[in-house]
Amino acid sequence: MQKMPAVFAGHGSPMNAIEENEFHIVLRQTGQRLPRPEAILCVSAHWETDGVRVTAGAQPPTIHDFSGFPPALHQTRYPAPGQPALAHRVAQLLPEARPHESRGFDHGCWGVLLPMYPEANIPVVQLSLDRRRSAKQHYDLAAALAPLRDEGILIIGSGNIVHNLARLDFSSPHGSPWAVRFNDEVKQHIEAANQAALTNLDSTDARLAVPTPEHFLPLLYTLAVRHAEDQLEWFNDATTMGSISMTSLILGN
Ligand code: ZN
Repeated sequence: MQKMPAVFAGHGSPMNAIEENEFHIVLRQTGQRLPRPEAILCVSAHWETDGVRVTAGAQPPTIHDFSGFPPALHQTRYPAPGQPALAHRVAQLLPEARPHESRGFDHGCWGVLLPMYPEANIPVVQLSLDRRRSAKQHYDLAAALAPLRDEGILIIGSGNIVHNLARLDFSSPHGSPWAVRFNDEVKQHIEAANQAALTNLDSTDARLAVPTPEHFLPLLYTLAVRHAEDQLEWFNDATTMGSISMTSLILGN
């Protein structure tokens, strides 16, 4: 079976799920050119739990975990099936993961999968972010998922390298200087495979870019399953609205 790549997708505004903008279009093209997975394991910024949970329902519902957006977004469904067998496999690799039978897909998950796989016919399982873990503990946990890449599973982390809603600036089509600096710093650490730096980011820029960890942590799930022979490809590599980075990456060859 072909080794699958691993992806980190910046999701940004929920509207990127349905708006035909540059980010949406590149996500669609990415889905079209990646090898077709047997199933997808998604780690989103928008599912934080005490302990590790994994969706185990056969038909997870679409969760609209936002407000104030147009009706078209609230009415959007992503009816991909779940895959209880994959949830079971994840629990083999991560014995601390407990199945969640009724949990659906949050917008961090379906917001990137809708452009990538609009037919919604590839099974999807979501893994939660255990809010009790440090960045290093998330990284170490995620590394145990690496065998899934040899089993046809596409691992997608969905978050944002820079995400500070209190600092949004709609007059700034690009990022604030600190946002651009931090995004560049993280990219350099990724290119140098400097995992220790990525789990120990602590600077004025880091505190502005990552005021809370949940949008950054999904990146670590992608990087933790990296192989030495993987090529690294950036896409949607932009900072927007002052304080959001859409920078995304594919690991694979
Ligand atoms: Zn988000």
